[in-house]
Order: sequence, then C-alpha cells, then structure tokens
Amino acid sequence: MAIKYAFGIDIGGTNTKLGIADSDGNILRYKSMPTPQSPPDTSAAIIADEVENLIQKEPDKEISGVGVGFPAAIIQPDGIVSASPNLPLWCNVPLKKVFEEHLKRPVYIDNDANAAALAEYLWGAGKGEDPLVIYTLGTGIGGGIVIGGKIYRGATGGGGGLGHQTIDLNSKKMWKCGNYGCLEGIAGSYGIISRTWELLNLDKGSLIWGVMGGDYGALSADMVAVAAKDGDKTAKLIAREVTRALGAAVANTINVFNPRCILIAGGMTEWGKELLLNPIIEEARKRSFKGLFKVCRIGFAKGGAKAGVLGAAGLALSEM
Ligand SMILES: [Zn+2]
Repeated sequence: MAIKYAFGIDIGGTNTKLGIADSDGNILRYKSMPTPQSPPDTSAAIIADEVENLIQKEPDKEISGVGVGFPAAIIQPDGIVSASPNLPLWCNVPLKKVFEEHLKRPVYIDNDANAAALAEYLWGAGKGEDPLVIYTLGTGIGGGIVIGGKIYRGATGGGGGLGHQTIDLNSKKMWKCGNYGCLEGIAGSYGIISRTWELLNLDKGSLIWGVMGGDYGALSADMVAVAAKDGDKTAKLIAREVTRALGAAVANTINVFNPRCILIAGGMTEWGKELLLNPIIEEARKRSFKGLFKVCRIGFAKGGAKAGVLGAAGLALSEM
C-alpha cells in the first residue's frame, strides 16, 4: 500500500505538539511549543502558522489531512469543543471549522484519549488487537475504545468516558463532573492527592512527609508511589485503593466490551508493573468473567512523548 501522510496536532493544557506522520507510524517532522494562552481564534491562528511552517519543510509530501487531539469532550460530527477543564477559554469552540478555515485542508478532531487509543491500535502496544480499550491515567482519567478499527464515539461524541464510571456508590465526595464516586475522583492524580491529605493527617510518621521535603504544595501522586515502594503503610494503602478502583473499572470494561486488549497509559505508568499494573490485573481477574478475562491482554501502552502527535495524525489517516 502506498505510504500516506497526515499532520498531527496534539493540544495540551501546557504544551502543543505538532508533527507530520506517515501511515507506517513514522514521524517526519516534529515540534513542541507552549500552548498559546490567547482566546481560541488567536491561538488557532498561531498554531496554524506553525503547521504551515512544518508542512513547507516537506514540499514533496502530499499531506491530505490534519488530525487534532484535544483534552476535552468533543461534540461530533461537527468537532466542537465542549467545556475543557484544562483550557477553560476553549468552551463551545467549533475547532474543526476554525482549523479548516486556517489550513484549507480537511481537519479531524477528537478527544486526546480517543486519539491515543487509535495510535496504540495502529502502531503501538495493541497493534491490530480489536476491540482495544485504553485508560489514560494522569490529572484526570481518560478513556478510548477502538471497535472494528474505528474509535467508538457513541451518539454525539461522548463515548469512551471511562474515567467517569461510578466505582464507589457510597462516596460523599462530589467530583468535578458533578457525580459522586467516579473512578477519576479515586484514581486520577487530584483524587489521589486529596485522599492522601486525609490519611496524612492521621499518620504523622508517614514517609510521604519526608518525600515532600517540607513543600506541602508539591504533594503529587508520584510521591505516594515513591513512599509505597519504600514500604510506607499509608502510601501502600492509597496505592491499593487506587489499583482496586482501576481493577474494578477494567473488569467492568471486560464484561461490557469483551475486548482483546486493555492498555494503561499516561504519566502514572511510571508507578511500574509491581505497584500499578499487576494489582490492577489481579483485581480485574477476580471481578470479570473467566472466559472474557482470559482473551484480554492487559498491559502498558507504548506511549512516548510523540504519541499524542501520532494519535492525532492517525485520526486523519484513518479517515482518508
Ligand atoms: Zn466523573
């Protein structure tokens, strides 16, 4: 099959990454820039200029489409950004239309976790495994589902919101989305930090205090992992709560979708196999149907710094 080329734009709360990718999953040109903090129209124009600069460096490649990964729910098929917690200015922005006006090429936009799922399916750790599900663990918890080689978007684009499945029916803590007991509120980094403070106030001897080094504002989910690996009781308890919640969510996913593959992605994968992945698998095994669990591989995503650009380019390539 002839090689095709597409442009990928991965817009994050802090940085925006741009690149040209081919249909074998190679990145030909790549650039990372701070995400412009101007109103969306101006920001899109700044990003579009950088896109054109990179495209001009590959004059003999025919780039037929542009994919955009964005950290928010996207209303489809019109490609409208609904509210975005990390980029509050980008509320109700018809991003597909805005970029198409600037770039004069077809633009495909999707939620960043959906793009990540597609990249893992096309070129990553779950290549060709169908259905494939991804959980992206970070500040929030994103989800993406690939079925029949395509992203599952649901009726209006909101499909795949795996971070907002209710895990704790008895939770009294309202999460940012308005629900109680969401997976994200337990196992996303904000949720972990808030739970850690609850328990730290009861355990003045916890190693987590030392890991923070006196800077209480710096408490992160990764610090909990560091203390857990050093055998700290409170940190291990938190890690256990997190992996139980994730394992239950993975089991729900197995029982609902009967996937071939479930991948865990995002910054929290640095917690490692022993602290994160293996306990998730063990919990999922206990809570899912044996036959369905057996055919589902659960592992870490390939990820990487350029995965977002690849996923975004994949959006365009899979539509072409
Ligand atoms: Zn929620």
